[in-house]
Amino acid sequence: MSKVVVVGSYNQDFAWTTDVLPAPGATRLGTFAGGPGGKGFNQAVAAARAGAPTTFITALGADDTAAGARALATAEGIDLRDEVHPGLATGTAGIFVDASGRNVIVVAPGANAALGAGFVQAQAEAFGGARVVLAQLEVNADAVQAALDAAGQAGALAILNPAPANAPTTDTMLAVADVLTPNETEFAAMLSRHEGREVDAATLATMPDAGLHTLCRQLAPRATVVVTLGDAGAFVSHGEHLRGDHAAHYRLPAQPVTAVDTTGAGDAFSGALAAALARAAPGQPFADALRFACAFAALSTERPGAALAMPARADVATRFGA
Ligand code: ADP
Repeated sequence: MSKVVVVGSYNQDFAWTTDVLPAPGATRLGTFAGGPGGKGFNQAVAAARAGAPTTFITALGADDTAAGARALATAEGIDLRDEVHPGLATGTAGIFVDASGRNVIVVAPGANAALGAGFVQAQAEAFGGARVVLAQLEVNADAVQAALDAAGQAGALAILNPAPANAPTTDTMLAVADVLTPNETEFAAMLSRHEGREVDAATLATMPDAGLHTLCRQLAPRATVVVTLGDAGAFVSHGEHLRGDHAAHYRLPAQPVTAVDTTGAGDAFSGALAAALARAAPGQPFADALRFACAFAALSTERPGAALAMPARADVATRFGA
């Protein structure tokens, strides 16, 4: 039985590096690197490598990219439940990066945008065995809501990673999520959308704790909100339910690492948090799972790439003794 069910996107990334980004109509030479991505798949790989039996519910086209997705899921030991959309392509992203790291990106959501709420609901037996359900916003909103609702019905913990920032969360999503894991930009976007409150994302890491806690409580009164702060670590704000912690709010510093690529750090964090919460003993402090997620996410920044750059549970123990 799977302990973590991830509902979300699969994307194939196609990335070219070139000295100068081509102007419209121009052709340039470059080097190519491709790999799997999509927030859903990244988080499913993170959860699986963090040690949780993991089911991944997604939508794919009927193409070679989909076959690659299935092979990768098998290699990671992930139980894949894919809704096939023959008329749509599997999600892709085309990325051009110049020598100074600037990029231009086109994302084609393809099948991700068509993941059906009905398909999610039909996986009742996977949800029945889950302790944690984790969703993001790169698939259609009805499927996200279905995932959060299924978690509630199954008595599992519902985690929503409200990413990307420009994808809208709804009031209903915030009402049913047990845990939210926005980064600073996503947190500021939600405050603007739900509270009409404009906050500069860059100021959140240094905002006094009491003020940040108040903002979290206004945004999602019943949820635990974990604002990830990059190399400044994470801030936790609990509602009435302290989840085994003593304090209603606190910070955890980031682990010291030599970061080479922070792409996917947020995905590593949410996937690892889900895995750690799924194996937590009754009454075990939320802070224990948070510490593991911070260490796991920090290690993910030491390797380039997203899904395939995720560390393993044993790497965290070796490096940090956690
Ligand atoms: P996102 O990738 O969504 O922007 P963050 O940048 O906030 O998310 O990173 C998520 C988590 O990853 C952080 O809370 C932190 O624990 C860890 N992390 C990110 N960048 C670093 C870093 N440079 N050094 C150590 N840990 C990091």
